[in-house]
Amino acid sequence: MQHLEALVRAVPGFPRPGVVFRDVTPLLADAGAFARCIDALAEPWLGEGVRAVCGIESRGFIFGAALAQKLNAGFVPLRKPGKLPPPVVGVDYALEYGHDRLEVRADALQPGERALLVDDVLATGGTLAAAQALLDRLGVALVGAGVVIELADLQGRARWHGAAPLHALLRY
Ligand code: 5GP
Repeated sequence: MQHLEALVRAVPGFPRPGVVFRDVTPLLADAGAFARCIDALAEPWLGEGVRAVCGIESRGFIFGAALAQKLNAGFVPLRKPGKLPPPVVGVDYALEYGHDRLEVRADALQPGERALLVDDVLATGGTLAAAQALLDRLGVALVGAGVVIELADLQGRARWHGAAPLHALLRY
């Protein structure tokens, strides 16, 4: 994991003063590191019968699509509003300033289907909690969630509910 950590760039003051943004694009650009990252993301879920990997827009698409291939599962994008054609199901959620919304194609997941959530970064946890609420609404069997980076001081993990595990590869 140390090698992966070295490829995550810390950018102070982006996108706002006081924030340290974790930039995963150097990791993605390194073929070996990206492959090891996907292997490590997949490891807890091998043999868990995951049928769908649900990636959160937008960097969750990159990790999620590769992970879906690794797990022999389908990929389902959870998108910002207005990007997917109808019919969609959505949830609204609060941000620090304002609100946002995640949507999924209404028939993309079946009730009881074993699904895994994926994103690049867990920060305050609002996005992942909204994605979890969206999948709950569809009645899927949520196997768990995987993120590449957990910003532990923001305590986003506290907003993850239920018994399904939430795994993070790197913690800051
Ligand atoms: P949260 O809702 O947990 O506060 O924020 C998580 C969402 O914002 C994720 O979808 C993630 O892509 C994005 N995000 C928040 N902070 C960072 C960061 O430092 N680096 C990256 N790459 N994404 C971030």
